[in-house]
Amino acid sequence: MTKVRTRIAPSPTGDPHVGTAYIALFNLCFARQHGGEFVLRIEDTDQQRSSRESEQQIFDALRWLGIEWNEGPDVGGPHGPYRQSERGHIYKQYSDELVANGHAFPCFCSTERLDQVRAEQMARKETPRYDGHCMHLAPEEAQRRIAAGESHVTRMKVPTEGVCVVPDMLRGDVEIPWDRMDMQVLMKADGLPTYFLANVVDDHLMGITHVLRGEEWLPSAPKLIKLYEYFGWDQPALCYMPLLRNPDKSKLSKRKNPTSITFYQRMGFLPEAMLNYLGRMGWSMPDEREKFTLDEMVEHFDLSRVSLGGPIFDMEKLSWLNGQWIRELSVEQFAGEVQRWALNPEYLMKIAPLVQGRVETFSQIEPLAGFFFSGSVNADISLFAHKKLDADTVRLAMQLLLWKLEALRQWDKDRITAVVQAVAEHLEVKLRDLMPLLFASITGQASSVSVLDAMEILGPDLSRFRLRQAIETLGGVSKKETKEWEKRLSAIAC
Ligand code: GLU
Repeated sequence: MTKVRTRIAPSPTGDPHVGTAYIALFNLCFARQHGGEFVLRIEDTDQQRSSRESEQQIFDALRWLGIEWNEGPDVGGPHGPYRQSERGHIYKQYSDELVANGHAFPCFCSTERLDQVRAEQMARKETPRYDGHCMHLAPEEAQRRIAAGESHVTRMKVPTEGVCVVPDMLRGDVEIPWDRMDMQVLMKADGLPTYFLANVVDDHLMGITHVLRGEEWLPSAPKLIKLYEYFGWDQPALCYMPLLRNPDKSKLSKRKNPTSITFYQRMGFLPEAMLNYLGRMGWSMPDEREKFTLDEMVEHFDLSRVSLGGPIFDMEKLSWLNGQWIRELSVEQFAGEVQRWALNPEYLMKIAPLVQGRVETFSQIEPLAGFFFSGSVNADISLFAHKKLDADTVRLAMQLLLWKLEALRQWDKDRITAVVQAVAEHLEVKLRDLMPLLFASITGQASSVSVLDAMEILGPDLSRFRLRQAIETLGGVSKKETKEWEKRLSAIAC
């Protein structure tokens, strides 16, 4: 029998997401349960949005949780390279094969033409899709245009009628009509593959036998299935895991819930508890016990126990479970964990230079800098009353700061300062006019140690979380304001 091989294939385009850890956990359990292997592949074909920092954060966050992979970019393995950006030469060959066999075709349509077709289809209330304009070009004509250096993409052909049956391990056969599928671009004009081509080729070449992925990918499954068929390859078993949800049942989003794994690390959750909680997302132990280890989960793992109702990721429940884990530690273990969390020399050495010159006794440290060791600071609303800015502008300023800081990939004092400066200029105020708002949000006090340094040390997760909380304290931002204020973002130079 072929060895079971599963994988997680994150795109390194932002903070390491709890959804990635959740899917990784289920793939890991499935592989281990069958004595198989679990692979980590980095899907970084979107060069604009992918970064090595983000990739490293994914490795660190998964490892912190106790998720280990048998093969991956950092540990190697026989099916490498495991980064799609290093596999560019492979995809072209497969794309050419599809064109040669008549399953795909070069498309020279300009963006303007595509936009126009789209607008016309929308006006006719049709689902916008590619109209097949370049599909019938004579191969010699297409070759001539390619040889002349004309910009083009490669699109796959898809049936126009009938249904595709997607055999899902959880739902059984799911029927999706072909007329919902577009002639998907497989190779972009820059010569890089899209997700669809790279994903299918890599899963095949890496010998992946089972693909457990989020259900947001179910609607596009027919395209993947068709590609397997075009190539004449066995398709892996497919399993579409239910999406994590906010307590209000909407799709888990950072607007409503912190979604970065590192946030939970900085808040002082135990990795074992976090992993345990992710294992409770849509799954339960046969005896319904809430607290279990990874090994216990693997031992009792059974995909048929996954329930399709959207699992709710609720920080309060997670905290409760974390409390259970904490109480079962020995006192020595507890103290050790706390030390590792934030009472470690490395963290203290970052804080010490800010504090040393401002205290006369050590007992003054806590009132001055206790915010380095908390999650929320619950600033009093009076701290946001501003001499120059009215209440709406205060909220506007804070929301703009939050958005800009959310987009910041490298987190250091200079870059944070540049953001604050740019927002200040946009609002035609001075940098120092925005400082009281930062002090209030981040430290919970009217003044403290340098708040820009403090933000660097606290890190992006806690800093953004506190800004978000402060905005909520001030009454939040309405949908209408969000729409209006978002338009300002492009005018802020940073
Ligand atoms: N790169 C995709 C993602 O980021 C992978 C999806 C899949 O598992 O096929 O979610």
